[in-house]
Amino acid sequence: MRPHVVIAGRPNVGKSTLFNRLVGQRLALVDDQPGVTRDRREGEATLYDLDFTIVDTAGFEDAPAATLAGRMRKQTETAIGEADAVLFLIDARAGVTPDDERFAALVRKSGKPVVLLANKAEARMAQGGVLDAYSLGLGEPIAFSAEHGEGLSDLHDALSALFETGASDDERADDDDADPSDEDGEGAESAGKPLRIAIVGRPNAGKSTLINTLLGEDRLLTGPEAGITRDSISVEWNWRGREIKLFDT
Ligand code: GDP
Ligand code: MG
Repeated sequence: MRPHVVIAGRPNVGKSTLFNRLVGQRLALVDDQPGVTRDRREGEATLYDLDFTIVDTAGFEDAPAATLAGRMRKQTETAIGEADAVLFLIDARAGVTPDDERFAALVRKSGKPVVLLANKAEARMAQGGVLDAYSLGLGEPIAFSAEHGEGLSDLHDALSALFETGASDDERADDDDADPSDEDGEGAESAGKPLRIAIVGRPNAGKSTLINTLLGEDRLLTGPEAGITRDSISVEWNWRGREIKLFDT
């Protein structure tokens, strides 16, 4: 059976634009006005060698179920419940908003495998928003542009990894925290690739200072004026023989 992939996220982040790109036709309604997608829409998606069913949803809105927004949320919840994987979108230009957080919590609670897409990332000013997305706790964000088709090969790699593991262990067993074999790095970030860690927090909370302390040297500029770190910076850190890349945001 074709895997069932659901696109989720608050209104106006680009879900329908992504749906159209994956289906290759303008099946879903795209509009600048938040909440234009009221129904779930399904299509047959192709991404390089992958074939799957894709579902576009209305955005989650924190409203009572009796209202239209509440019905939209219910539909989204139902769609996620039936999904093999969820594509969770945020608008990287806007950064993470309270609505994104509420919705991310819903997706996390579902326990479904998630690919996090920081959409609208073609804009240079979106870089901070991409790193911001780490704070959702949904894994490493892919810098993406549904409109311009950027990040499609990263999306392909993430999805095909999910489909492969999903085939062997369907219902993901709850992680046994006490299992010491987890230490040996059978996880996604095994040997070779540096572990990527983003340090996030509001301005002036001490992110750069923390990184300097970890490194044991004053590599980053810190100061009392909020916003001294304008662009995100990454620094290499070797900790007990392990390559780590720290992102200051
Ligand atoms: P939805 O409500 O999440 O389905 O969002 P839509 O797909 O309807 O898109 C909302 C708006 O964002 C539209 O004006 C799209 O043209 C725009 N949009 C979608 N993807 C991108 C992108 O990658 N970059 C930019 N700059 N705009 C985008
Ligand atoms: Mg839509």
